[in-house]
Amino acid sequence: LFYGEKYINLSRKELLEKVQTQMSSQRFKHVLGVETAAVELAQRYGVSTEAASIAALTHDYAKERNHGEMHDLIISANLDLELLQYGSEIWHGPVGAILVKKELGIQDADILNAIHYHTVGRPEMSLLEQIIYVADYIEPGRVFPVVSEARKAAETSLAEAVAFETEHTLLHLIGQKRKIYPKTIDTYNTWVAKP
Ligand code: GDP
Ligand code: FE
Ligand code: FE
Ligand code: FE
Repeated sequence: LFYGEKYINLSRKELLEKVQTQMSSQRFKHVLGVETAAVELAQRYGVSTEAASIAALTHDYAKERNHGEMHDLIISANLDLELLQYGSEIWHGPVGAILVKKELGIQDADILNAIHYHTVGRPEMSLLEQIIYVADYIEPGRVFPVVSEARKAAETSLAEAVAFETEHTLLHLIGQKRKIYPKTIDTYNTWVAKP
């Protein structure tokens, strides 16, 4: 199976091989689950299934890069320096967008944004960005208590699924007294909070 050359100059099989070298088999399985969920959402909401597949397969590309490399890339690529204050779990989105451009030749701005913002979201999100954000949360391998409610929301409204995920991620982080990255709050204020 080949992708058209609109988004990437690799076949899906070649992309899978490259992605697989970047992560554990468990995470690779998660990535395949995100692809399944994202392609389904793309069909439902009228987005390119090819873009959804590529963004899903690459969304966690940087997740297992070493801390020092990610730290240095945040600085050298002029990413938001505030990231450095909020723990490395939120680094792999923005860092991943830089690395897939450099290492896989992905240039499409919407795909790169979907990777960049997949962990914390942002106030304005394209349909593809919403799809990757939500697919990451509802993919078939996820088993947390509210996942069935999130899947149900995603069947009827992508925006409702984004709101549901944002609210529950924030509740979860607060429950663990974790630091909240201000852009996570911006996402909450736009997608969840009442006017
Ligand atoms: P994954 O890469 O598939 O595991 O999922 P994500 O990229 O969506 O999330 C990675 C981690 O970042 C999760 O454990 C989230 O709870 C966490 N996370 C999301 N937003 C924030 C935040 O504002 N602050 C902190 N400390 N962690 C966050
Ligand atoms: Fe991630
Ligand atoms: Fe997520
Ligand atoms: Fe993920």
